[in-house]
Amino acid sequence: MPGAAPGMPGAAPGMPGAAPARRVTYAGPMTSPQLPHLPMDGVERVLCVVAHPDDMEYGASAAVAAWTAAGVEVRYLLLTHGEAGISTVDPAVTGPMRAREQQAACAVVGVSGLTVLDHPDGVLEPGLELRRSIAAEIRRRRPQLVLTMNWAEEAPWGLNQADHRAAGLSCLDAIRDADNPWVFRDLMDDGLAPWKVGALLVGGHPDPTHGVDVTGEPLRRGIASLEAHAEYLAALPWHPVPSEFIPGMTAQGGAVLGVEHAMLFRRYEL
Ligand SMILES: [Zn+2]
Repeated sequence: MPGAAPGMPGAAPGMPGAAPARRVTYAGPMTSPQLPHLPMDGVERVLCVVAHPDDMEYGASAAVAAWTAAGVEVRYLLLTHGEAGISTVDPAVTGPMRAREQQAACAVVGVSGLTVLDHPDGVLEPGLELRRSIAAEIRRRRPQLVLTMNWAEEAPWGLNQADHRAAGLSCLDAIRDADNPWVFRDLMDDGLAPWKVGALLVGGHPDPTHGVDVTGEPLRRGIASLEAHAEYLAALPWHPVPSEFIPGMTAQGGAVLGVEHAMLFRRYEL
């Protein structure tokens, strides 16, 4: 289509049907493009790959609640138990506690399977070990859509955490590995045949392409899923209240998607 969609930067005043021509000198929030709803046609299974217990619960789980309510099967793969998450508590205590709380968080939003791996919390390194773990799970679960974390050094809220960068980048590479029969060939011996993922979603991305409407019940469940990490959050007195900051965040996303509350993601067609 020549030109740009209504509201997009560069939409030409004076085009047929457009408002009377006037000089536009500032492309501020009022002229921000409205993002499309995330297409879910043909998506029966979603795999979410993150570093820690609670990583899904900062808004992404509200989108998960919307998907599971629509009949999509959603599974989580956590690369660590988050055992290094509470500075005053022994990791041997924290790890199992956080995995239990993650199980409760999953139940709130209808997640049908949770796998928590034993990679070391706090010192995750992107590389072959993580790629192999993630590729194996992709082949096992055969998702059409994979959701992972922003792997950039900077995230919209500030500097990105090392484990989050490692998880996102390794997931990106593992998606390709999962589809290559000559990479991690021992996975074939375990009966894990190659699988091609159709699309990758990245949360916490500064330049999102799509939104998921989480207005109403999905948002309520999303908030409750973070609240399920009760013991962990109690150890972090500075942590904002889930029922306050999550709706504030999703309201910003909603304004971009044209609904009351939304989560925004960057989607890559693979
Ligand atoms: Zn984390």
